[in-house]
Amino acid sequence: MRLTRYFLPVLKETPSEAQIVSHRLMLRAGMIKQASAGIYSWLPLGYRVLRRIEEIVHQEQVRAGHIPMLMPTLQSADLWRESGRYEDYGEEMLRITDRHGRDMLYGPTNEELITDIFRAHVASYKDLPLTLYHIQWKFRDEVRPRFGVMRGREFLMKDGYNFDIDRDAALHAYNRHLVSYLRTYERMGLQAIPMRAESGPIGGDDTHEFLVLADTGESEVFYDSAITDLRFGDRSVDYDSVSECQAVLEEFTSRYARTDDTHDEAAFNAQVPEERRRRARGIEVGQIFYFGTKYSEAMGAVVVNDKGERVPVHMGSHGIGVSRLLGAIIEASHDDKGIIWPEGVTPFHAGIVNLKQGDSAADAACDALYQALIAKGLEPLYDDRDERAGAKFATMDLIGLPWRITVGPRGLAKGVVELTSRRTGESEELSAEAAVDRLAQIYADA
Ligand code: ATP
Ligand code: MG
Repeated sequence: MRLTRYFLPVLKETPSEAQIVSHRLMLRAGMIKQASAGIYSWLPLGYRVLRRIEEIVHQEQVRAGHIPMLMPTLQSADLWRESGRYEDYGEEMLRITDRHGRDMLYGPTNEELITDIFRAHVASYKDLPLTLYHIQWKFRDEVRPRFGVMRGREFLMKDGYNFDIDRDAALHAYNRHLVSYLRTYERMGLQAIPMRAESGPIGGDDTHEFLVLADTGESEVFYDSAITDLRFGDRSVDYDSVSECQAVLEEFTSRYARTDDTHDEAAFNAQVPEERRRRARGIEVGQIFYFGTKYSEAMGAVVVNDKGERVPVHMGSHGIGVSRLLGAIIEASHDDKGIIWPEGVTPFHAGIVNLKQGDSAADAACDALYQALIAKGLEPLYDDRDERAGAKFATMDLIGLPWRITVGPRGLAKGVVELTSRRTGESEELSAEAAVDRLAQIYADA
């Protein structure tokens, strides 16, 4: 993409309404624009990152054997009356009446809708296990929408639902989700720690929330610092193997890590040596739940088991805050100059800065570089504006592309361009071909 043909409305001033750094940077970098309280338009740069995050979520869910689909945002109130949640959900639910006087709602979550689909089509244990998921907009009429996309009213969520014949099978689905989430967050450059949590209005026995440590997080967390040394890395786990998934769960959840809802000071002190006890704040970027037969009993999601008996299925629901993740990643990865995108989610793979726009040699070199990057399957953002170098660098630093290639007459005379890492600030001079190869290698490894 050439910047002169793009739409990147960066702001010079720091917006006064934004209280936390990720919100400020998303506004300044021209990623989002508030449409009304807690509701945002995703401008092209923000949309690119959102799509990349979505893509990682999809890839890891499919890898775990979960099946993508799409359910609507608007739902009929009748299903929610069946489960008993229509009244229970309270003021967070946006209720709408259609022209025929029918009660509708903008879905805050999808347990009812998915259970209705399941009961209509599945009748036998032979069709289990089954995990369906979608990535869809949700609406929750939060009392205090704030921090930009972190606590919106309309937000994008991945929500998945497992259907299993019994508790053990459902717990395997739970563990599978835990493994897939660990991989998902690490690919986004994040460490998200599974913490024991309380179940809330969805209701459940087993549940973990995934938290990214950040001072601006809304949750208070208590954990054993040894947990922060754990990495999932690129290990391969067989998602069908009960023991392999269980082993990952044990590795990542055996140490003390809880949110304030479930925190127990006595247990914390007894289980964790003083020097490893941490009290901090975190951003909830996902949650997994096993809730048994709560919905299947209320809504008649029943299958015939291998003994010919009709039994309610065991279910769980598993969410990832897709749009919130943008905020969480920025909170975890920025400096005074702007955002620093991890390679896994960056909106463009590299920026090209032409130091002397209009100089025929510099323009030709930038064009060639631009085409060479595209030929390698990379997406460059070429700053071809007629601007001072300082302004171009400031824009690149603000929008946070992990790599920048700077091209100018002085370097070209020596046959080199400059490759700069946004994270370390380190630069290296090398030929344009070598720079392209280096970037191709970096992204192949990422
Ligand atoms: P919270 O405690 O932050 O209100 P929740 O526990 O009610 O969230 P879940 O039902 O677990 O939310 O939803 C799954 C994920 O969706 C959460 O882990 C979070 O990352 C994201 N999420 C929830 N509410 C919002 C919101 N208002 N804005 C953006 N993302 C949200
Ligand atoms: Mg939650």
